[in-house]
Amino acid sequence: MKVFEKAPAKINLSLDVLYKREDGYHEVEMVMTMVDLADRIEMQELPRDTIIISSQAGYIPLDEKNLAFQAARLIKDRYDVKQGVYIHLDKKIPVAAGLAGGSSDAAATLRGLNRLWRLNIGTEELQRLGAELGSDVPFCVTGGTAVARGRGEKLEPIEAPPQCWVVLAKPPINVSTSEIYGKLNAQEIHRHPSTDRVLAAIREKRFDELCDELGNVLEEVTLKLYPEVRQLKEVMMRLGADGVLMSGSGPTVFGLVSKESKVARIYNGLRGFCKDVYAVRLLT
Ligand code: ATP
Repeated sequence: MKVFEKAPAKINLSLDVLYKREDGYHEVEMVMTMVDLADRIEMQELPRDTIIISSQAGYIPLDEKNLAFQAARLIKDRYDVKQGVYIHLDKKIPVAAGLAGGSSDAAATLRGLNRLWRLNIGTEELQRLGAELGSDVPFCVTGGTAVARGRGEKLEPIEAPPQCWVVLAKPPINVSTSEIYGKLNAQEIHRHPSTDRVLAAIREKRFDELCDELGNVLEEVTLKLYPEVRQLKEVMMRLGADGVLMSGSGPTVFGLVSKESKVARIYNGLRGFCKDVYAVRLLT
């Protein structure tokens, strides 16, 4: 038997770090949503007790370092599943981009194997399993739009933001999430976004206000280390995006655009700067 799952990319409409906890994690407050740019994951049952990963993308690990592998092993161990699985990852989300590609693959693998092996695991339990794999995985289990607190695992689903175009551009650098968090001094953040105002803008469907309130404290670290990300933000604003922000720890920058007539100009303008550019819709 075979199952398929879509693993969409996430963007942060806001990302705030409240403080560094004693366990080393950062206490965060993030508003996250998904965009229509997705990996496609195929899972096929194997009679042997083994996990095999393949992908058309030559630049991701295919062994136990792959988050989809880890998700499969976790579910097999926890539910004592004797069968194996062949997992093919058709990667569309750029890697190490701040778009939670690996986390979304892991979440999609949990969902898919739950179906493939008829385990009947509830959503909350899938999210608990996901939290063992990474902070963004619980959100990716359900997707939608949510506020995430704690280290990302305490989720409060909210309504979708007003529909719009999202232009994403990833400069040709790879950014390590742990390096960026490691360099963040939580006591010296200059400007915190207002989660409340972001939530109010979404609730009241005020697109312009949402664009004004976008904020990500990790920009203070990443933009300093990688000036090309700052430059990309400036270019995207100059080209006419309504709101521009770096997603996650970067380096992907996204622009929210309400008018379809502006999208082609922004997309083409950005292609002069980097080759990884996408124009997609919010996944609402
Ligand atoms: P996040 O925003 O959650 O930190 P990201 O988008 O910055 O994620 P990923 O694309 O998830 O980053 O990749 C981060 C690292 O994880 C890469 O170095 C990659 O080699 C590794 N990795 C493991 N499994 C996967 C996977 N299924 N897809 C992509 N990368 C993976």
